[in-house]
Amino acid sequence: MRAAAGPRGTAIVAVIAVVGALAAGPADAKTASQPSLVVWSGHLGAETTMHGVVLKPNGQGTIVAVSVANRDRATPTTVGPFRPNASALAQIRAAAKAALTAPRVTLGPAGPSAAYASATIQRGAAKRVLVAVTTAPPQLATLITALNRALPATAQLVQPPGPLGAVGLTPRSDPFAGVLIQHSQGTAPCVPGDAATSVAQPISLKDAAGDGLVTLTAKGGFGTDDVAVDAHWAPLADKSPVVLRMNFEITPPDGLSPTDQARVVNGIKSSVESRLGGLKASDGTPLTVQLNVRQRDPGQPPSSCFHEITVNQDVNPDVTSAINTKLNMTGPFQPDPLPGYGNWSTLGTSWQTGGGFSDRAANIWTHEALHFAGLDEAYHPAFQVDDVIKNFPQDARFQNKDDVLAWAAQEEAFAGLDVNSGRFRLPSDPGHEHDYMGRCPDTPPCHVDQAAVDQLVAAGRDNLEITGSPGDLLLNKDPTEQSLGVGTTFRLLVHRGTPAHVDGLVAYCIDADRHIPEAGGLFDVLGRAGDQGDPGMSALQAVLDEIAREQTAPLATVEGGQFAVWRVTDNETAGDDIGPIRSILDAAHIDVSATFATPHYNDPNAAGAQTGSVSSTAVLPTATLVVPPGPAPAPAPARLEALHVQQLAAGRRLLSVQITDTASEAATLTLQRGTRRHGHTSYRRIRRYQAVALHAGLNILSLATPKLTPGAYRVVAAAASATRTASLTIRR
Ligand SMILES: [Zn+2]
Repeated sequence: MRAAAGPRGTAIVAVIAVVGALAAGPADAKTASQPSLVVWSGHLGAETTMHGVVLKPNGQGTIVAVSVANRDRATPTTVGPFRPNASALAQIRAAAKAALTAPRVTLGPAGPSAAYASATIQRGAAKRVLVAVTTAPPQLATLITALNRALPATAQLVQPPGPLGAVGLTPRSDPFAGVLIQHSQGTAPCVPGDAATSVAQPISLKDAAGDGLVTLTAKGGFGTDDVAVDAHWAPLADKSPVVLRMNFEITPPDGLSPTDQARVVNGIKSSVESRLGGLKASDGTPLTVQLNVRQRDPGQPPSSCFHEITVNQDVNPDVTSAINTKLNMTGPFQPDPLPGYGNWSTLGTSWQTGGGFSDRAANIWTHEALHFAGLDEAYHPAFQVDDVIKNFPQDARFQNKDDVLAWAAQEEAFAGLDVNSGRFRLPSDPGHEHDYMGRCPDTPPCHVDQAAVDQLVAAGRDNLEITGSPGDLLLNKDPTEQSLGVGTTFRLLVHRGTPAHVDGLVAYCIDADRHIPEAGGLFDVLGRAGDQGDPGMSALQAVLDEIAREQTAPLATVEGGQFAVWRVTDNETAGDDIGPIRSILDAAHIDVSATFATPHYNDPNAAGAQTGSVSSTAVLPTATLVVPPGPAPAPAPARLEALHVQQLAAGRRLLSVQITDTASEAATLTLQRGTRRHGHTSYRRIRRYQAVALHAGLNILSLATPKLTPGAYRVVAAAASATRTASLTIRR
């Protein structure tokens, strides 16, 4: 028994369960020494197609897939034949033979949207099943590469990345350690410390410094990401607002005029923000929803740390989707460096001829946006015959309409009715008829479910979002060394109890005549150059704002940026005619004939041992915190929150068990069988499993069971914090 993958781990287990159905046929004598194989790959989560390939020992094969509609049940369909040429076949076979000795299970750090691959390889009597989540062993990676060379573009297998180091990402001691995985589906990941969706209490870099929450350390240079930032969480004043921020990069429909493209992008921002305005938790804490929206030119690569949204003009809302990375709403919110993506619709073109976007379109956008905040659907499948509506059973595993009709035919509620005349329905969950996450776009007015607001605010109270802005000045404690000006928008999310460290913050030297900052030296935060009440400092603010605008990636250095800064801080004129420098100065409206008398500050907190907040002449007191920062608080107590169980496929001796806990603790699982007597069901234990170590968040386990005959069962999870029970009915 082993915890597998992240929130989307269920599908993989189901996929492995169907592999047997596709196993290659018996080998003839000539090819008996050649391997047969079945390889599957995809992303954890039910929203993308899984691709697979079956290869027989004779070199004949089949390309297979599991479409999104079939992901729940993992039912494969045949896409077409797979006939690699001789040299490709030789490479595939060599790789398959080598993979017979690869580790059976390779689990990388679990993360949403993680890639995985599985392979069943048989050669004579030797058989090996490999499963890799997030990270693949080299033998499996080589096999996938060999297969991809021979597969058409539409059937390429997903290659889980190698160990983190191999893709140039180093695990760090911050909330992102463990979830840095290759980006997928046309999105670009966030730098450590940032997330495309965050729910947090905001605090400026200056206030965080004043409250002793950050330490800014010189890395030994200037003009690039030369400041290391360490930070920790502390509680802010009661009822400080919580901000839900979501970054959306929107690609408007093809063929629109630039004006109409901008109307789409701005229309989404304003209509969603206005619908999500004025939210308050039950205790009165405001929840502010900010859409940080940017327009994407399809010719440009995706921006780092933005959810990618493509907008179409289809009149049918069914083409709308949101593939979001899933926030854990029951446990601590952990920022996710992987943005999501989606397809949204304007629901036709009538908005172009007047009246703006329809309420319905805006309500659906709001529904989709809330998915990116981690909210789930609040509606469910049901079947209606005449006036009778019956929800699908919780553990329904219908594959097609015949399955539904077979179930409906034996439902008492439909007795005497012609189930063949029935219709599939998606009603709102009870009490969610006007919830954006229910079917509200069909039944306006819509509102946000109060429980969801409370959950978001509770999650946000455990996070700080520290923001450094272009123009923030960092004074070097050593007066002989350079102070720096921030040339980027810097975000660092800090979770309760988890100190963060990032390398780093992009800043430019503002004292050309001083020494380069020595590594290990500390800075204090003066705040915005533009707030210093000095013309030279205002010019510096304009230059740093322009540098930040021209930055192409979060840690990138802007060409010419350092000389443009020195033009206004130190009257450095040598670059006045050099293209990139001049273009920054022109865009910042700097008069290159001017001479500046910009001040060079000495840090008033030079003697202070920590990073603090300063004015140009004094150390500023702390202001924001309710309680002074002390040692990191003890981790939240464990609480076993939820247990779900389902049989992976009828007749198979495997259960998928999902357990949510708020922290780490051990749990013991038992499987019980019910006996019904005199209208009462009593349970008796039929299997007890080895204790399992739960981690905070969603744990997905698979349990082997004896053959289960039809009847009532339950799984009991017992931990120190609580005991939870989940029922299961085995049919047929
Ligand atoms: Zn939805």
